[in-house]
Amino acid sequence: MKPDDADQRRAVAPVICYPTEGLPQPDLMLYHAARETARLTDTILIPPREARTFRVPAGHFFRISCQHGSQVGDLNLWNANDLSERFYSGKTRALHGTHLTSGERMWSSHPHLRPMATIVADTLDWYGIDAFGGAVHDVIGTRCDPYTHHLLTGDHYHHCCHSNLTNALATELGVGFAEAEAHVHDVLNVFMCTGFTRDTGQYFMKASPARVGDYLEFFAEIDLLGALSACPGGDCSAEHSSDVAACYPLTVEVFAPTPEALEGWQPPVVNGYRQPD
Ligand SMILES: [Zn+2]
Repeated sequence: MKPDDADQRRAVAPVICYPTEGLPQPDLMLYHAARETARLTDTILIPPREARTFRVPAGHFFRISCQHGSQVGDLNLWNANDLSERFYSGKTRALHGTHLTSGERMWSSHPHLRPMATIVADTLDWYGIDAFGGAVHDVIGTRCDPYTHHLLTGDHYHHCCHSNLTNALATELGVGFAEAEAHVHDVLNVFMCTGFTRDTGQYFMKASPARVGDYLEFFAEIDLLGALSACPGGDCSAEHSSDVAACYPLTVEVFAPTPEALEGWQPPVVNGYRQPD
């Protein structure tokens, strides 16, 4: 039964859950100045429908780029020295919104809850929010995985981002699939264009606006182990979890600034909350 005051209840104005003004702010001027001094130290090519790991020391930069075609990437991040601290997609979404861009941060899991990486450059920051409610680089889409795909279709597909990330981490750690799988978590969907439909609230994707040369660049706030999957959906314009889409490699590049460039900068400490005795 719809109450008599239904319209009044719906008309109540929303309140931002987590105003971000109180967060510790990144010193973007310092980061950009440090980036000017940085030299390339590592390049990792992510083959289509596969994933690879990479390491980025605290205070270094890493860039994810489309150098071969429009391609979505699924990114996992861990504290390189403690895999129990990993990217917390849900809280990052609650803090910064459904999609990330320059100046926003990837936050880590409880009880650490600190910045793992700060986005310092985004060549797609012009995109904004389109007429469908779509935007780029989402933290709403979890990752394509073989279990959901099996539920929906009955098929067995082995190159979902979840599987690719697990295999890459298993190789990196020298462990089996099951042990690695427990570390794989909800991703930052780099270059993916997504939103929720206005009428049904369903998760949607559409062709990524990324083109050859586009990139997203990060400052590593702590020592990072990353894994990136070149999604089998390619630009995710039609479908994922299959070999149908045109799929391209992605590139990860790591850059080291000069030590003097970050003088005075310290990695963020773990969250200061104390449980009662
Ligand atoms: Zn995927």
